[in-house]
Amino acid sequence: MFKKILVANRGEIALRIQRACRELGITAVMVYSDIDKDAKYIKLADEAVCIGPAASSQSYLNMPALISAAEVTDAQAIHPGYGFLAENADFAERVEQSGFTFIGPTPEAIRIMGDKVSAKQAMIKAGVPTVPGSDGLLPEDPKEIVRLAREIGYPVIIKATGGGGGRGMRVVHTEAALINAVQMTRSEAQVAFGNPGVYMEKFLQEPRHIEIQILADEYKNAIFLGERDCSMQRRNQKIIEEAPAPGIPRRAIEKIGAKCVTACKKIGYRGAGTFEFLYENGEFYFIEMNTRVQVEHTVTEMVTGIDIVREQILIAAGEKLQYAQRDAQVKGHAIECRINAEDPYKFIPSPGRITMWHSPGGPGVRVDSHIYSNYFVPPTYDSMIGKLITYGDTREQAIARMRTALLETLVEGISTNIPLHRELMVDARFNEGGTSIHYLEEWLASRAR
Ligand code: ADP
Repeated sequence: MFKKILVANRGEIALRIQRACRELGITAVMVYSDIDKDAKYIKLADEAVCIGPAASSQSYLNMPALISAAEVTDAQAIHPGYGFLAENADFAERVEQSGFTFIGPTPEAIRIMGDKVSAKQAMIKAGVPTVPGSDGLLPEDPKEIVRLAREIGYPVIIKATGGGGGRGMRVVHTEAALINAVQMTRSEAQVAFGNPGVYMEKFLQEPRHIEIQILADEYKNAIFLGERDCSMQRRNQKIIEEAPAPGIPRRAIEKIGAKCVTACKKIGYRGAGTFEFLYENGEFYFIEMNTRVQVEHTVTEMVTGIDIVREQILIAAGEKLQYAQRDAQVKGHAIECRINAEDPYKFIPSPGRITMWHSPGGPGVRVDSHIYSNYFVPPTYDSMIGKLITYGDTREQAIARMRTALLETLVEGISTNIPLHRELMVDARFNEGGTSIHYLEEWLASRAR
């Protein structure tokens, strides 16, 4: 087992990885940019290394700085967390070439899954259902593009193969708008991702976002840890997640989960990963795979009792998966609310000093957050300052506990989206469960009227 792991990330996930390391008796070396020097996990760290100034490009995205931090501290492995370099195949490669273990899949697997067209093709080959669309990248010939869209049927969505984070997508409703939309998505993709390649998919009207969590070791053992419903999104950003997904028959989940497991074995996938699907009229359609731990991994941990970050570390250390599929039983229900430092309805970021923070508690309440009273939320990074997770025997109980937990949570000095979560937890339609990916935006629009 590793003696020392470098945590190449910040915020709540850095703390989460530090906790997993401590539990395993591993020293976690934390890194920080100038502006993060007062973070809780830095104050609590056994070892911490400054990797540069606030700008991510010079710190959390700075590969040489991260690798030298591992070198000077004698770390054996690097955990990338999520975001930043977590899905950067070049980083994984450089980490391994420098003699460290990358806690994640192989660079090849990251590369294939990081390109949406190659990921989709790998899934088709492995027997995972995908959204009907172009076989690969769109050709140059406009006539051919028009023909393809007619075949798929409108509305269609044009997506950048190099896209991510909800960017690089455009919905097209009519043939008249098609070619212009393709050209605009191409040039935006070139600027944003350095890759102009785009492809076309049928645009599903009222889907839900359902994802399957998997764990796989390097000996081709793989299991799935049930599903998550992440349909509560704004601008393709998840805000509330839960497990299990309300109203989907277990048989259907088991069928798609088994397909994901088979795909992992076929592509030689290693580590934790997520297969993301759109779910409509009882069918699953693969959209992308995330080759890292996800923000919402917590709800799966609560309903399966399996510590995903711990398993990531054990798998990277070359251990065999200690769970069989029958060990990954889903029990009870868990909900996560992402707490963001932002205006709850206008969504304008609200960085600054937190003058008071009171964390909730009680049965079935989990708080994953690095903030504290007098902590300064830097304006430089993502606005998420923590995650509130509740567990219950039933969905109703998990929601009831979330209402209480949100009531108990006090943050002063900055604005947060807690008022939004409080409203959503009493919303009738949310309480019914099974809302589509458009529900939150529609709810926000009707609230604004
Ligand atoms: P990203 O990597 O940017 O997150 P995804 O492919 O995961 O991109 O898509 C993000 C979101 O965009 C989905 O959760 C869904 O809301 C929407 N979306 C993507 N593809 C489709 C589609 N074919 N039909 C309808 N909505 C889609």
